[in-house]
Amino acid sequence: MSGTSSTKPAPQSRLAIHTITTKPWGLAEAVGHYAAQGIGGVSVWVEAIEGMSAGEAHRIIDDAGLRVPALVRGGFFCDAAASQRQARVDHNLGLIETAAELRAEMIVLVVGAVPGEPLDRQRGWVADAIDRLRGPAAAAGVRLAIEPLHPMYAAERSCINRIAEARRICERLDDPIVGVAVDVYHVWWDPDLSTEIERLGRDGSLFAFHLCDWRVPTRDLLNDRALMGDGCIDLVGLTRQVRAAGFTGWDEVEIFSDEHWQEDQAEFLERIVRRYAAIDQQAG
Ligand code: ZN
Repeated sequence: MSGTSSTKPAPQSRLAIHTITTKPWGLAEAVGHYAAQGIGGVSVWVEAIEGMSAGEAHRIIDDAGLRVPALVRGGFFCDAAASQRQARVDHNLGLIETAAELRAEMIVLVVGAVPGEPLDRQRGWVADAIDRLRGPAAAAGVRLAIEPLHPMYAAERSCINRIAEARRICERLDDPIVGVAVDVYHVWWDPDLSTEIERLGRDGSLFAFHLCDWRVPTRDLLNDRALMGDGCIDLVGLTRQVRAAGFTGWDEVEIFSDEHWQEDQAEFLERIVRRYAAIDQQAG
C-alpha cells in the first residue's frame, strides 16, 4: 500500500475524501494523492467515474490501496408522475450494481423534492422507493444511507431536512440495510441533533459522517462549503458525539467550493489532512 511508506505522513485510517472535494483531479490522480497522504478511503461521486466502467474505477482505487465508503449519490425519488418515480427506482437499481462493482459500502441517497407537492406526501414516495430498493441492495451487499439536506433545499433537492424524518423512514422499513448519513453541513443547526445522533447510534442506523464547515457569511447555497475550522460548526463536539454514539465508520470530508477548486489541489489536500488530524485528536 502506497500510504504506509515511512517517508509519508502517518495513515489517516478513518479519513476518507469525496472525489468532489478535489474536483479538478481525475479519479486516478485523486486517489494517488489521497494514498500519498495516508488517507484510507475515497467516496466516489458518480461524475468522477463517467467514461469508465465501475470495474475499471475499482481497479484504480484498489491499486492505490484505498477503500470506498460510498458511491455518491443516488436517490431523487420525487416526481408527481408515478411513471417517473418508477424510472428513478430503476436508475437507482443500476446504481446499486455500480456500487457493488466499486465495492462501495453504501450509496448516499439525496432523496429529492418537487415544488408544489406536500413534503409529507413526498416523504411517503421516498419510503416507498427505498422499500423497493432494499432487497436488491441487501443482495448486492450495499447499504442505503438517507442523507437529510439543509431546509434551504426543501423545494427542489430534498424533502428530508432533519435526521428525525430520515430516522422515521428507517424505523418504518426496519431493515439493517437502511440508515442515515449525517452531514454536518446539513444538520448542524438542528436543536435535536444530539439526541438524534444518540438514537441513530442506538438503533445501528448511523451509517456515515460527512465533514466540512459552514462559512459565515455563506456566499453560495451550493458551492461555498468551507474547510473544517473556517466556519461556525462545532466539529470537535460533533465528532465526539458520533463516536460516543458508537460510530466506528469513516470520517468523510466532503467540500464543494468554487473557491477551493481554484486552488492548488495538493496544497488544499494537505490542509484538509492537517485540519482533520486536529479534530480527530481533540475529539479523542
Ligand atoms: Zn454529504
